[in-house]
Amino acid sequence: MSESYRPDTVAAHAPMPEPLRERPLGLPVYRSSTFAFDTAADYAETLGSRREGYTYSRIDNPTVDAFAAGVAALEGQNLSTAVEGQAFASGSAAVATTMMAFVSAGEHIVAPKAVYGGTYGLLSNVLTRFGVLVSFVDIGDLDAVAAAITPQTKLIWSETLCNPTMAVANLPRLAELAHANGAMLGVDSTFASPIVCRPLEHGADVVVHSATKYIGGHSDVTGGAAVAAPELIQRIRALRIDLGGAMSPDDAFLLHRGLTTLGLRVRRQCESASFLAAKLDAHPQVELVEHPSLSSHPHHELACELFDAGLFGAVVNLSPRGGRAEGMALCDRLKLITIATSLGGAHSLVSHSASTTHRQLDDEALAGARITPSSVRISVGLEDPQDLLDDILQALG
Ligand SMILES: *Cc1c(COP(=O)(O)O)cnc(C)c1O
Repeated sequence: MSESYRPDTVAAHAPMPEPLRERPLGLPVYRSSTFAFDTAADYAETLGSRREGYTYSRIDNPTVDAFAAGVAALEGQNLSTAVEGQAFASGSAAVATTMMAFVSAGEHIVAPKAVYGGTYGLLSNVLTRFGVLVSFVDIGDLDAVAAAITPQTKLIWSETLCNPTMAVANLPRLAELAHANGAMLGVDSTFASPIVCRPLEHGADVVVHSATKYIGGHSDVTGGAAVAAPELIQRIRALRIDLGGAMSPDDAFLLHRGLTTLGLRVRRQCESASFLAAKLDAHPQVELVEHPSLSSHPHHELACELFDAGLFGAVVNLSPRGGRAEGMALCDRLKLITIATSLGGAHSLVSHSASTTHRQLDDEALAGARITPSSVRISVGLEDPQDLLDDILQALG
């Protein structure tokens, strides 16, 4: 900066570090909304995508790209073909952008009846307003899925592990059905995380995550990601830029850090969940324990086929004997496990499904979704599993 500038100018142009010769080991946070060029031609070439580079952080940001590349590396680790990632401000932005990238007015989506509540709202209240047709089916009933497919069907949507019953999606069969009918299979794999299952290995075309859950892992950041083959991810990226649900560089830093310990955390959480499920299964005050590690779970075999050895997810659905009141009372008596929405973090959380996430369903509709009125969803965290078991046992009385 020339000494002839006045103080306000010198202040506004405080020096920045020169590009380093060394590589920083910690992820640099490029907290910059815009990127400067030496020449107008460079700027024009970059904005026109004729030259690689960054122009504006809603379009692309290096910190955010590093996070998205990390999720893509995990989801694509065993594939022979390339995949790429895109990051979003939330899981919901990832789901909405992905669906809208591949389905237009007059076209059709087949989705699970038990789909995540936010996705249900998007499909039934938003996309329908833009002329998209939606059928909700029992996604575990492959005949029902096949029957719902029409010539307009462009997307079958599924969740690797479904909330709260931990139903496992038959990804290979759903992919077959989709592809035989000229449609794609999109999978929300939030509950599994790429440590438990990688849907692209089982035929899915695109996988999305709410990174808010296991990937973040500390209940302190909201984010989402989508991973697919480069030609598909380009369509998702283009729409992300237009819809504007970009991830912030600070959130990308936290989520990139989350990836570093994802394997350790998720393995521990899954093992603790299997431990709790086994210990609670025969308890006299317990009507039903749902966790795919149990041979009594209807999808135990499928989980063994699709999931990495010994990992069955870290959510346990526990139904005490009785109805709604007993489920809520169980939550109130827990001392260590905290009443809160969300999942995947270090703290174990509990929520009574019938009064919270599934509050719109009466007992008959709950039965249709195979959810018992008393059931509480426990997201198993990083505490000592014996302390969690002791807490649940004292609450069951
Ligand atoms: C939480 C969640 C979402 C939405 O993610 P946000 O980050 O809250 O927007 C989508 N799908 C599943 C399965 C989820 O658990």
